[in-house]
Amino acid sequence: MTNRIHNFSAGPSALPTEVMKEIQENLLSYKGSGMSVMEMSHRGDLFMEIIEEARMRIKRLYNLSEAYEVLFVHGGASLQFAMIPMNFIGEGQTADYIETGIWSTKAIAEARIQNKGVRVAASSKDREFTCIPKAFALSPDAPFVHITTNNTVRGTQWHALPETGSVPLIADMSSDILSRPLDVSRFGMIYGGAQKNMGPSGTAVVILRKDMVEKIPAGLPTMLSYRTYVEKESMFNTPATFPVYAISLVTKWLEETMGGLKAMEEINTRKAEKLYAAMDEDDFYCGTAEKESRSLMNITFRIRNHDLEPVFIEEALKAGMAGLKGHKSVGGLRASIYNAVSENSVDALCAFMGDFKRKNR
Ligand SMILES: *Cc1c(COP(=O)(O)O)cnc(C)c1O
Repeated sequence: MTNRIHNFSAGPSALPTEVMKEIQENLLSYKGSGMSVMEMSHRGDLFMEIIEEARMRIKRLYNLSEAYEVLFVHGGASLQFAMIPMNFIGEGQTADYIETGIWSTKAIAEARIQNKGVRVAASSKDREFTCIPKAFALSPDAPFVHITTNNTVRGTQWHALPETGSVPLIADMSSDILSRPLDVSRFGMIYGGAQKNMGPSGTAVVILRKDMVEKIPAGLPTMLSYRTYVEKESMFNTPATFPVYAISLVTKWLEETMGGLKAMEEINTRKAEKLYAAMDEDDFYCGTAEKESRSLMNITFRIRNHDLEPVFIEEALKAGMAGLKGHKSVGGLRASIYNAVSENSVDALCAFMGDFKRKNR
């Protein structure tokens, strides 16, 4: 096997090597069928088993009650930005959005394009999205409150959920879904593009509370109504079969190899703590997110002497570490340490950061 690099890419991002090997072993003939999962009918028994397994494992990992559906929707997280207002902001209603980064800004924009009632209940834009807002007043009449649980670009994360009373919370969890246990009962809907923490790109996973379905208006285009995905079990048309297959394997790995979300959270916390400690040692590096809002998934930082950043990226790559360039909109450095990025990779990066600092002081 060719060497696997330490992959800190923000997305699409690292997948567990064990999963990649299992995919490779079954690529030409899945379960003795003589066909790849890519080549088989989505209505056949073999694929029906795969999609059911992916659903069941997500339900088990999050301890979902019967009140929740797990859906697979094409178009990634960005299509959900458009579908959420279409499905859930009714005539005369105004939804509350909390703006914590460019992805929430995009979600808000998609609601505005449709002339839907949208209120930005709080924003950390004036702080360049380096923190999660602490004070906000939410409307008790809103059809939902929308948050982005982890802000991939700036490296901030909600560590306690906002109190929304009986108003359902809807969360874009693209970059921290399945990274830690979650009290899903607080949510009307959770969604995420698969390509950060669950599999390759090509589908979004949507966890939807059944009472939300009743609010969906009639008359939406079929593929843009969540009701279609519920009624047809995500098979109105051909689902993204190969990504769903990969999700079934990643969730199996999470349950059986990693020991579930509590165990995964401990590992993820340890990984993040190590990197933040390496960054906080002195003033050579400096973190860009405010401390209490720091993400466990995307560690964003700068070198005080910005000119050294391209050198850091280049030398890191030579040392077997990829994906460390910050998002193009903010520059700097970013290490994305999703579930599949091992503690060993994080240790390698911490050691490299120490060496780089000693050489470049
Ligand atoms: C990457 C990302 C998106 C965009 O996901 P797509 O699946 O490419 O549409 C949305 N929200 C967050 C928080 C992200 O990290």
